[in-house]
Amino acid sequence: MKIREKFIVGIDLGGTNIAAGAMPTDGTREIAMRMVPTMAQEGADAVVGRIAAQVEEVIEQTQRETGAARADFLGVGIGSPGPLDRARGVVIVTPNLGWRDFPLRDEVANRVGLPATLDNDANCATLGEWWCGAAKGGRNVVGLTIGTGIGGGLILDGRLYHGASDAAGEIGHTTIDSTGRRCKCGNYGCLEAYASGPAIAGRAREVLEGGEDSILASMVDGDVTRITAQTVFDASKRGDALALEVVRDTAHFLGVGISNLINIFNPDTVVVAGGVTQAGDLLFDPLRAEVRRRAFKPAVDACRIVPGALPLSAGVVGAVATFRAQTFGDL
Ligand SMILES: [Zn+2]
Repeated sequence: MKIREKFIVGIDLGGTNIAAGAMPTDGTREIAMRMVPTMAQEGADAVVGRIAAQVEEVIEQTQRETGAARADFLGVGIGSPGPLDRARGVVIVTPNLGWRDFPLRDEVANRVGLPATLDNDANCATLGEWWCGAAKGGRNVVGLTIGTGIGGGLILDGRLYHGASDAAGEIGHTTIDSTGRRCKCGNYGCLEAYASGPAIAGRAREVLEGGEDSILASMVDGDVTRITAQTVFDASKRGDALALEVVRDTAHFLGVGISNLINIFNPDTVVVAGGVTQAGDLLFDPLRAEVRRRAFKPAVDACRIVPGALPLSAGVVGAVATFRAQTFGDL
């Protein structure tokens, strides 16, 4: 007799969007993937309501596509911006959502009538890339997700590493220049202050305002406030010297941060995900060269640095994986 397939729903909660989907417990496929706006300004209760609605829609679509019964859904894995307390299922503080000590896990579990787990969104993205994406097959993995900020996740000896208080992996706020640029966290010289999406755009704007010639200006009709990291990558692919310089500098800053991580953790895989992967080899070639110049050779030789392979779904896949790992043990 064929054993009935069981499913887990994954939620990736962000400041802008809520992504959702389901997977069978073996992680072999993504089902009913979708995304809706978070609309955090409407308050926590409304956001929980939207998450619950997504869970219901994902379950219904998965049932239609697979013939699964409601009882075949084991629970909901939630990835959320942190810091958070996994044991209590509480989001301690999220500037982007405006929450403080919010019991997100139980609020969602009560609303949908299924058990739920909570983990950090960047941990989930790293776990997703490890379980089903570019870091597959690795055993010691460092993950960076570069967007509005820089999130990080650590998989050490085949397990997600959370640290003493679930705060491990804050790679974006490691210092690469002790007297450098001010970061949103209040510190100076954090990696995030140099290589996040807004930081990349900001550096391009500074060089442009310094009077250098570039197609960037015409790409945003002269309104430099509209320059994003994406604009910079597009211009670099068209051979624009200023944009290429900004991408090379980004590779340098990321290379410094990643060299530190490689010297500390000796990973077999560093996976760099998020919008920067759009820059392709223009970013990754000089990044790898910077790491080769800086990090300890045996560690560099053992490590591949790869772009993420799940640009739209790593967070959801990882949220499913965290539920699985927290419920059944290791993946
Ligand atoms: Zn910082």
